Amino acid sequence: MRNEVIELAQELIAIQSESSLSNATISDFLQNWLEKHEFAVERICYADPNGVEKVNLIAKVGEGPGGLGFFSHSDTVPGNGEHWQPFSPRVEEGKLYGRGSCDMKGPLAASMIAVKSIDSSKLRRPLYIAIAADEEVGHVGAHFIQRASATFKENWPTWTVIPEPTEMVPVYAHKGGALITVTATGRAAHTSLDTGISANFLIAPFLAEMAELAKKMKSEERYKNREFDPPTNGFNLTINDGGCATNVTAAKCVANINFRLMPNDLHEELIGQIEATATRYNLAVTHRKLMPFFLPKDSQIVQAACRAVNVAAPINVPFCTEAEGYQKYTQCVIFGPGSVGQAHTVNEYVKIDQLELAVVAFQRMIVELCL
Ligand SMILES: [Zn+2]
Repeated sequence: MRNEVIELAQELIAIQSESSLSNATISDFLQNWLEKHEFAVERICYADPNGVEKVNLIAKVGEGPGGLGFFSHSDTVPGNGEHWQPFSPRVEEGKLYGRGSCDMKGPLAASMIAVKSIDSSKLRRPLYIAIAADEEVGHVGAHFIQRASATFKENWPTWTVIPEPTEMVPVYAHKGGALITVTATGRAAHTSLDTGISANFLIAPFLAEMAELAKKMKSEERYKNREFDPPTNGFNLTINDGGCATNVTAAKCVANINFRLMPNDLHEELIGQIEATATRYNLAVTHRKLMPFFLPKDSQIVQAACRAVNVAAPINVPFCTEAEGYQKYTQCVIFGPGSVGQAHTVNEYVKIDQLELAVVAFQRMIVELCL
């Protein structure tokens, strides 16, 4: 088992699948592997905004209603290859290094080895593996799966494990996120002519109001949720005028506001307030959001995960996962090997003993819920 999970994770890491590239090659590999192990595989393709082919896979073994799913993604953040060898996986001192080792090709491999070990003729309920594209760029593939999967139109699993890295501690809740983009449009002109309109001056009064709002968000209790640490929403703002030269008026200035959503927070009021402020200053404004995730701690899937690793209580985390969308259809627990502190870093790694623990824990959950 040890060699199997390491070998499979290494094979996945070696197939480059940063979100900007097509994930067709790694999806071919995964589909072959799943079909070899008795899964029926649905392949959903789409073109991303740059016209690049993206592939989602939904694999099913076993029959009947309900069941258990393991939902992962096959894309990674950029490899940053100038600093290390991200696509040449290596094992050193009990750690597997490589881009995606921890987020989330190692965890995906652990779920695949766990389901492979089960005698599918004994399943009382179906098992699913879903592998989405474009998780790292806004959960695009997962949202596609939710809309378009014929497999899931027939039946969603009752329970789902999302094996994002949580060091194998079950997670029952996490924050979501909102991104609000505000654009001021001016007119570029050389300052010697003094005929320009600076987009920066147009947006400045709006920015001043956002600075006041940021203070309120940190201090007022009604914007906080004490279930989380920190209880605040991390309200942030960045500005881009395209690096305008100092002797030219800026033609365009874009402010991006980002904050984290929490269950039962005031995000709708907040987004409405920010949009109204932008409109008052004649600025263009758009927003998109990823919902927070929450499932009661005593729900069956969270408790099954706790039992699988002998953990007394589940935790919540400040980062967002695809559970934000899947929770409408299936009861999710975030539960996977490795530390999120390793995700997206140069020299990303996952500890081998975490991968092994994941295989055993996932097997236990399958036995408890589906056999
Ligand atoms: Zn991930």
